[in-house]
Amino acid sequence: MIEKKLILLLGDQLDINSPLLMGIDPASSEVIMVESRYESDYVWSHKAKIALFLSAMRHFAQALKDRNIPVTYIKESSLTIDQVLRTQIQEKGATQLICIEPGEWRLMKALEELASDLNVKLIVHEDAHFYCTINEFKLWAADKKELRMEYFYRYMRKKHQILLDQEAQPEGGAWNYDDQNRRAYSKNGPGLISDPLKFEPDDITREVFEFVEQQYPNHPGSLEHFSWPVTREQALSALDHFVNDRLESFGVYQDAMWKETPFGWHSLLSAALNLKLLNPREVIEQVLATYQNSQLSLASVEGFVRQILGWREFVRGVYYLDMPDMKKANHYDHQQPLPGWYWTGQTQMNCMKDAIGQTLKYGYAHHIQRLMITGNFALLAEVLPEQVSDWYLAVYVDAIEWVELPNVAGMALFANGGRFTSKPYVASGAYVKRMSNYCDRCQYKPEVRYGDDACPMTTLYWNFLMKHQDAFNQNPRTRLMTANLSKIGLADQKMIQIHAKSILDRIDSI
Ligand SMILES: Cc1cc2nc3c(=O)[nH]c(=O)nc-3n(C[C@H](O)[C@H](O)[C@H](O)COP(=O)(O)OP(=O)(O)OC[C@H]3O[C@@H](n4cnc5c(N)ncnc54)[C@H](O)[C@@H]3O)c2cc1C
Ligand code: SF4
Repeated sequence: MIEKKLILLLGDQLDINSPLLMGIDPASSEVIMVESRYESDYVWSHKAKIALFLSAMRHFAQALKDRNIPVTYIKESSLTIDQVLRTQIQEKGATQLICIEPGEWRLMKALEELASDLNVKLIVHEDAHFYCTINEFKLWAADKKELRMEYFYRYMRKKHQILLDQEAQPEGGAWNYDDQNRRAYSKNGPGLISDPLKFEPDDITREVFEFVEQQYPNHPGSLEHFSWPVTREQALSALDHFVNDRLESFGVYQDAMWKETPFGWHSLLSAALNLKLLNPREVIEQVLATYQNSQLSLASVEGFVRQILGWREFVRGVYYLDMPDMKKANHYDHQQPLPGWYWTGQTQMNCMKDAIGQTLKYGYAHHIQRLMITGNFALLAEVLPEQVSDWYLAVYVDAIEWVELPNVAGMALFANGGRFTSKPYVASGAYVKRMSNYCDRCQYKPEVRYGDDACPMTTLYWNFLMKHQDAFNQNPRTRLMTANLSKIGLADQKMIQIHAKSILDRIDSI
């Protein structure tokens, strides 16, 4: 008897070179792809995120058909993915369900459960997209007292021979060039930044837009500025454009922010990478080839490679190591609800208004906006980590849980108690002022700690330090912050605490 095999490809597994697609025998095997309504609205997803996934999936299904790969494409289903699979397995008499490790832990569990219920063989392939497999990461982590990205990154550089000199030492003599990569824009602003490549919606994408507007009219965000790559060809053009036009300035200004400058010199490649339209190896190879042939600086190139080979692979490893506990982690036992204006941008705080405003417009904010503006504020305002995570998962086009959750719970909120970061990333309005022009026309003043003009970031920052003074004193990386606290008189400290409480009490209207 021929074994009937269903090959499941999820919406973030759009890799045309996937080993699962090689040599498919149509007599026994077919690919299945499912558009599930549940996946679009189990968090209150941004319209652009829903549209990106659906459009990329539909384009991908078309590419499979063009290659004569048999595919069943279930459009606009109101069921969950596993519910659809249950029906399909039974209808088709499939005996094997083949898939790649899903990017969400809950989906892996759902597939295991359905395979056991229906008595079908579940074959889960490692995700060949990543440099580091889940098992390799577990092995690497096994004998580490602390999980630190920097050491993982060095291990990856050595293993994959990336940016090493003849003696297998880091090119240029240092493993990282962080100290050169933290500049703010000049006082006059960033000057002319070349635009990232934009892609006009085609018929397939426009049809998806109609569907999204019809089915999800009240979801946050807009489709008006949608120009994300939705095919592999487009993703490759976006990569080319970034490497040739933007990468050189990427490093230096990685952390800089400027009002109405939503993209800075960033690559905007995360969504294409996470959907697997792009492979990280081809991204790094192209960056290195261009570095070798041109005048790109080592600091920019290394800074970029570190994000892809270091952070991206590292957070994935940590996610699978720490799930499901990571989802519930709440080190500080924070319980405040997420302020309503995270969904509208309607706050008087200029920095939050700009970062959230561009998020609603494009489904995008760059790393420092996510970490030091929206993330920093959520931590200082003691918001329940699960609500913060759901927000990030909903509003960014590149958000898939394996990458979103470690960044939010682990990096931005310190919710897992410093499992892989050496300190909480907290900052006052002084940092925002240094790295952006947000404070220039804000009704609040970054240097004022309490009173009507006080910057909420600043008030809540000092309040946070007071609350966690003992822990901060014990950590050499945060001791300096609490040393500054001791320069504030006790009466002023009391006023900060009173003002902080009043901010938290009326957080929806600040
Ligand atoms: C609170 C918070 C939430 C985040 N949520 C997500 C998310 O849902 N999805 C996501 O892909 N990234 C997330 N990040 C990481 C990072 O902010 C985004 O990858 C980056 O902003 C995407 O924009 P870009 O492509 O222009 O990146 P660039 O700045 O150009 O960086 C290049 C690439 O490096 C990778 N990268 C950089 N930093 C990280 C990181 N910390 N973790 C993993 N990959 C990284 C991305 O693939 C990115 O495309 C989050 C960061 C924070 C602090
Ligand atoms: S003053 Fe405070 S709230 Fe206003 S932009 Fe600066 S940091 Fe943000």
